[in-house]
Amino acid sequence: MEMSINSGDSQKKSEPKKVKVLIIGSGPAGLSAALYAARADLSPIVLTGMTLGGQASLTHIIENYPGFPEGLGGAELGELFKVQAERFGAEVVYDTAIEVDLSSQPYKVKTYGGEYHADTIVISTGANPRHLEIPGEEEFTGKGVSYCGTCDGFFFKDKEVVVVGGGDSALEEGLFLTRFATKVTVVHRRDELRASPILQTRAANNPKINYIWDTVLEDIQGDDAVKKVTLKNRKTEKESSFNTDGVFIFIGHTPNTELFKDKLEMDEIGYLVVNNFMETNVPGVFAAGEVADSHFKQVITSAGMGAAAAIQATRYLESFE
Ligand code: NAP
Repeated sequence: MEMSINSGDSQKKSEPKKVKVLIIGSGPAGLSAALYAARADLSPIVLTGMTLGGQASLTHIIENYPGFPEGLGGAELGELFKVQAERFGAEVVYDTAIEVDLSSQPYKVKTYGGEYHADTIVISTGANPRHLEIPGEEEFTGKGVSYCGTCDGFFFKDKEVVVVGGGDSALEEGLFLTRFATKVTVVHRRDELRASPILQTRAANNPKINYIWDTVLEDIQGDDAVKKVTLKNRKTEKESSFNTDGVFIFIGHTPNTELFKDKLEMDEIGYLVVNNFMETNVPGVFAAGEVADSHFKQVITSAGMGAAAAIQATRYLESFE
């Protein structure tokens, strides 16, 4: 294979930009890949997608990323990742990949702003919050229904909210919401939480947090904003109406892999399949972070996968020298 050389010219609209390592997505995985590829002198380009820093940047405080004993804001961590990668020559472009051609090398990636021809690609497009898919959810999104407490909590000052889910996100975001809301009711479909013990203890010690167990939401109702939800107890099948000003939904994530459908191997849910070297089934195309990880989903594990993907991309490029 003949490898292309990154000219370093600024991109002209009609002319595709050549790049040795193109990183799609700017969460912890993408920006860690950028740092490692930059330090290998490969001048990587990172397409940020919609949010610099990915999902982690929407987290109020990250307390389990080593090196920051007091914790730090998710957006702040994302910015630090970016600054560090740029220091070594990574270019961060505020653009989104909209079309990918992996049928021949160099791989072609179209964005809103132009086109890239890449010798290698690191996919780190992350995941999006899963939806309940119940009546009223879509209609009231932005009018009381939210998937991000850190983003929208402020709008619920002195109000009452429902949090759906029983995992780390539900409790962490629920705890954050107690800063604003007078009451946070966690509605969980089972009678046992999935969240880590430390969060369970914090929630138990917070008088604003209440639980409704074995229960799911049937619908969300309101006028110009959310007013109430219909709850259904899964054991008794009994339905009831519950007044609330907001519904925060934290029931897991769906990987952002639509772009790679029928182009890369995925599992039955849609996560990209990678081996221990972060390699997908297409040579020179790597994946890192939550897009390829349905299990750990931590900032540190995503960052580690990103670093590994970049190291492997470097070795892949070296094999053609
Ligand atoms: P998660 O661990 O998958 O939990 C999702 C929760 O939503 C579960 O309690 C699940 O119930 C419930 N659920 C799923 N589908 C549902 C539906 N259709 N209706 C009602 N409830 C539903 O997701 P997560 O909390 O977003 O966490 C994702 C990953 O990120 C985890 O690995 C977590 O440890 C990590 N995380 C870590 C931190 C931290 O370390 N501080 C913070 C946030 C997230 P069941 O329990 O019955 O399955």
